[in-house]
Amino acid sequence: MIPYDVPGDVTLRDVSRSPRGETWPQAMHRLAAKALISGCQVLDANADGTRCRVTSARLRNVAYRVWLDPERHAARCECAAWHAVGICGHTALATAMLHGLPSLDTPPLVAAFAGRCSLTGQPIAPGDAITKSARGGWMLVDCEATPVAA
Ligand SMILES: [Zn+2]
Repeated sequence: MIPYDVPGDVTLRDVSRSPRGETWPQAMHRLAAKALISGCQVLDANADGTRCRVTSARLRNVAYRVWLDPERHAARCECAAWHAVGICGHTALATAMLHGLPSLDTPPLVAAFAGRCSLTGQPIAPGDAITKSARGGWMLVDCEATPVAA
């Protein structure tokens, strides 16, 4: 396992809420810290780190099965949070300890297709700078505009 720790002055309160416009790498770092501070533990990792279990922060004697695909930056967990939003502390902590967290300096991507910003609903045109959103989908980089009403 890869040594993973959080600075001692980071509290659970600091990492509990998802800030507006949080990117996927930022969420992975925040959720891994939250899981670590909450006492979650990675158990029973297989040799290539693609499967493990991670203990629940709240429920005694519960460990969720986690599947990791580090080459595709994909992960899956059987907890309710993952099923709700597609990301959770269990997958983040397992990624941190088995493969390392994604870089926060990941450069933005260039949109190859038209779509909508998952944060504001603004149109994304091919060629726009986009980044993966922590809440699913893609969002425009530096998108701080007022959300467009749906
Ligand atoms: Zn989970």
